[in-house]
Amino acid sequence: MPHDLPKAYDPTAIEDRWAEYWVRENLFAQSAPGSADSSENAPASAASSCLDGQSFTILLPPPNVTGRLHMGHMLNQTEMDILTRWRRMSGRRALWVPGTDHAGIATQMMVERQLLAEGKTRQDLGREKFVERVWEWKRHYGGAILDQMKRLGASVDWQREYFTMDEHLSVAVREAFVRLHEQGLIYRGAYIVNWCPRCQTAISDLEVVHEEQKGHLWEIRYSVLDSSGKDSGDTITVATTRPETMLGDVAVAIHPADPRYRHLHGKKLRLPLVGREIPVILDEWVSLDFGTGAVKVTPAHDPNDFALGERHHLPSINVMDDQGKINAQGGKYAGLDRYAARKAVLHDLKELDLLGDIKDHTNSVGHCDRCKTVVEPRLSTQWFVAVNKSPKDGLPSLAELARKVVVPDAEGKKAITFTPEMYEKTYLGWMENIHDWCISRQLWWGHRIPAWHCSECHKITVARVDPTACAHCGSARIAQETDVLDTWFSSGLLPVSVFGWPKLPSMGAPGPAHLGTGEGNRSDFDAFYPTSVLVTGFDILFFWVARMIMMGCWFAGDVPMADGSKRTLADAVPFREVYIHALVRDANREKMSKTKGNVLDPIEIVQQYGTDAVRFTLAAMASPGTDIAFNVARTEGYRAFANKIWNAARFLFMNVDRAAEIGIAVDPAALGKMPEAEQTAPLETRWIVAELHAAAVKVNQSLENYRYDDAANTIYQFFWGSFCDWYLEIVKLSLDFSETADKEKTKAALTTLVAVFEASLRLLSPFMPFLTEEIWHALYDEQPPAKSIALTQYPQAIENPADVTAIAGMELLQSLIVEVRTLRKEIAVEEKALTPMELRIDAAVRSIVEQNSAIVERMARVSEVRFVAAIAEGLSEHHTASFDVAVIYERTVDVPAERERLTKDIAKYEKGLAAAQRQLGNAGFLVKAPAQVVEGLKRQEAETRLLLEKAQAALAALVK
Ligand SMILES: [Zn+2]
Ligand SMILES: [Zn+2]
Repeated sequence: MPHDLPKAYDPTAIEDRWAEYWVRENLFAQSAPGSADSSENAPASAASSCLDGQSFTILLPPPNVTGRLHMGHMLNQTEMDILTRWRRMSGRRALWVPGTDHAGIATQMMVERQLLAEGKTRQDLGREKFVERVWEWKRHYGGAILDQMKRLGASVDWQREYFTMDEHLSVAVREAFVRLHEQGLIYRGAYIVNWCPRCQTAISDLEVVHEEQKGHLWEIRYSVLDSSGKDSGDTITVATTRPETMLGDVAVAIHPADPRYRHLHGKKLRLPLVGREIPVILDEWVSLDFGTGAVKVTPAHDPNDFALGERHHLPSINVMDDQGKINAQGGKYAGLDRYAARKAVLHDLKELDLLGDIKDHTNSVGHCDRCKTVVEPRLSTQWFVAVNKSPKDGLPSLAELARKVVVPDAEGKKAITFTPEMYEKTYLGWMENIHDWCISRQLWWGHRIPAWHCSECHKITVARVDPTACAHCGSARIAQETDVLDTWFSSGLLPVSVFGWPKLPSMGAPGPAHLGTGEGNRSDFDAFYPTSVLVTGFDILFFWVARMIMMGCWFAGDVPMADGSKRTLADAVPFREVYIHALVRDANREKMSKTKGNVLDPIEIVQQYGTDAVRFTLAAMASPGTDIAFNVARTEGYRAFANKIWNAARFLFMNVDRAAEIGIAVDPAALGKMPEAEQTAPLETRWIVAELHAAAVKVNQSLENYRYDDAANTIYQFFWGSFCDWYLEIVKLSLDFSETADKEKTKAALTTLVAVFEASLRLLSPFMPFLTEEIWHALYDEQPPAKSIALTQYPQAIENPADVTAIAGMELLQSLIVEVRTLRKEIAVEEKALTPMELRIDAAVRSIVEQNSAIVERMARVSEVRFVAAIAEGLSEHHTASFDVAVIYERTVDVPAERERLTKDIAKYEKGLAAAQRQLGNAGFLVKAPAQVVEGLKRQEAETRLLLEKAQAALAALVK
C-alpha cells in the first residue's frame, strides 16, 4: 500500500529532507570504472544500456569563494543539473564536479575591508599573516554558495569538491608555469597595463569597464626649437584629455602627409614645465581629424603611445607610482595625486600662456570592474604568456591550437562545438587578435609565481621545488617574486587538474619524479577527460573558456590515451561542447541591476514557491540564445503544476488502496520501464501509452539540442493535458471496485495508470527532482527498487512506432467531446444536467464512438449518443470534417428572472466597453502605455463586445 501523501503539496516540507538525503547518501558520487571504489550508485541499467556506460562529465564553472547565488547561477545550475540527471538516468557514467575559485582580487578586497573595520591594513599584518587571515576567512565564510547549491539539490559529486588553492591543484599551476617557462613561452617584460591605483594591481582588459564620461580636451602649445636648440617662436598645439601625463611625454607625432605640419618634419620641441627636448615624429597611425592632428606621445601611460614608442625606439618615462601619484620623474609635481597634478599642471600652463582652447569632450573612461576606480594605463613589469609564439620551429602556438580545435578538420568535424553557434565566430575573432596574456597580479592572495630573483647576477630562477640558490651563479641571495598568478591561470587548468594532471603516470611507469610522492592515478583522467560540455555565461567566454581551451590542448596533448597511443588534438580539448546560456532578465525584459533595484533573489523565490517550480520556470523558458524574462506569475503557474501532479498521485494511491481491499495489486514488474500496450487493450490505454512514448521521444531530442524549453513544455502538456485532464478522467470508468467488478479489467486499468504515472515521474525527474523523489518513494511504499528516482532509467525513445490508430481515435473522441462541451455552453445547459446528443458521423469512424460511447458520455455529460443520418431540424449543431453533432436540451426558463439577469449583464458590458473605448481613444495613453498593455486592452474590448452581442441576442430571443 503506498504511503499516504499529505493533503497539500508543500515544497518546504519535502525539499530540505531530500537535499540532505542526496548529500548524506552520496548518491551522485561517480568513480572511474575499475577504480577501487567503482561506483555502487551507478544506475543498474548502465551496463546493459545502449549507451554502454560512456562518461558524461561536466565541470561547474567555479563560483568565487566569496560568492552568493544569483539568478544567473540558478539558471546555469538548473541547466547543468537537468543535463546531468538526464544523462545519468540514460545510462551514462555521469559526473558533475563542483568547486570554488579563490578569486584573487575579490577575496583579498573582502578581507581588506574586514581589516579596515579593525583600523588595520594588510601592510600592518605583513604578507604571511595576511594570507593566513584570508585562509581563516575562507574557513569561516567561504563557499556559502556551495551550501546553497546543496539545498537546491544539484546532483554533483560532493566528494570531488575542490578549491583552486588546494594542494593538488596548486601543484598543477606550478607545473604549468614551469613548463611554459621551459618552453620559452613565459617572459617578463615592460608593458602598458591597466593599473588600478586602489587595488594596486594590473588588471586585464576584460576586467575594465568602460563608461562614457563628460570631460575636456585641453589644447597645449609646445615650443618649436630652431637648429641651435633655442625657441623659434613657433609652436605646435597638441590636445589631451589627461594633461598630467604630459610630464612623461617623449615626442609629438604627426601624420607624414599632413600639410599643416610639413615644415616641422625633423624638428625638435621643448616640453613645457619639464624642459625636456623631444622630437617630432612621423607616423601614419595619427589621425588627421582628431584634435589638432598633433599627438603627444607618452609611452608609459597610454597603450597606443606605447606602440608608437616601440616603433620609433623612444624611451618610456613613467611619471606615476602605483597609487596614481606623480613620482620623482614628475619634478615639482612629485607626490601629487593624479587629479591634483592635473589641476596644478593646467594652472601653470595657463600662467605661461601655453594653454589653448578647452573643449567639452565625452570619452570612454576605463574603471576597475572590482572597485570602480578609474584605471590608469601605466607601464610596469609583468609576467606574460606568449600565446602567439611557437615553442619550436614547426610547432603551433597556444593560440593556433585553440583556433584549430574550433574550425572544421579535413573531414569537416570540429573538436569543440559552440551552442549557440554564433559564439564560435566571436571566439575565433578574439583568438585571431589575441595579445600576449599578462598573468601576473600584484596581490598577496593567490598562487605566488615560482620565480626567484638573484641580487648577485640579477637573473631569474624558475623552479618546481623552492630553490635555495640561484641556478645561474649559485648565490644564496635570492628572493621569490612577490606577484601572484592571475586567477584565470589556475581556473584555466581545471579540466586537466581536477582529474589528476600532472601526477599522471604514463603507461606502466610511475608519475614524473619531480612531482613528489604519490604515483598518481590515471583512471579518472582516462574516464572523464575531455569533459562533455561546458555550460557557462557569455561574460567569461574569453576570461575562462578561451584559456581552458589553450591550456587544455597544450597540457593534455602530452598525456597518452588509456591504451598508450598518442592523444590527438581532438581528444586533448578540455570539453567537446560549449553551451552559452542566456541572461535572466526581469519580467519587463530589463537587465537586473542593483541600481535599478530589480534584482530577484533566487533563494527568496525558492522559499516562496519551492525549488521545483523555480527550476521549471527557468527550464520552460531556456533555449539557446534567448534571454529569459523571469516572471513569478509563471513560477506560480508551475507551482500549480506541481500541485496538480501531487493531487494526481493522491488520487492514484487512493485507488491502489481500494483495489488492495478487493485483492487487486499492481505487478511491480510493470513498473520502472517504458509501459507498453497490446493492440487489444482499450483505446485510452493504447492512447496514453502512445502519448507517453511520443513525449519521451520529444523530450530526449529536445535535450540533445539544449531545447530545455521544448522539453519542459512537452512534459507539462503531457502531464497536465493528456494525463491529468483526459486520461485520469477516462480511466475512472474502468476502476470498478464493486462486488461485480471485472477484476481483470480493473487490474489492467490500474496497472496502466500506475505504470504510466511512474514513467512520467521519471520523465519529469530531472526538471522537478524533489517532487518526483517524494512521490516516487511513496509510490513504492518506501521500498523502492533504487535509492533514488535519479538512479532509475530515463524513459527512452525505444523502438515502438507510435500507435497512430489509437492517437487518431482518441483525437476524434476529444474533438467530439470538446464540441459537445461548447454546445452545452452556448445553449446554457445547466452544469450538472445530462443530455442526449445527436451524432451524424462518417461510417469509417463511427465504430470508434460506438465502442467508446462510455467515454463520450462521461466526459461530455451525455446521457445517450443517438446516431442519426441527419441532425434533426431546429437543433443548433456543430460541424467538423467527420461529424455533425447537436445537444438535445429543453430548457425550463424563468423568463422574468432571465430577463433581469440579461439586462443587468448588458448594462455591465456596455459600461465596460465604454471604458475600454475611452482609454483606447486617448492618444496620450496610447503613446505612453507598453505595447502589451494596449494589446490586452484591445483584446478585452473585443471580448466584451462579443459578450454584449450575445447577451443582446439572448434577450431578444427571450422577448420573442
Ligand atoms: Zn580596483
Ligand atoms: Zn645569480
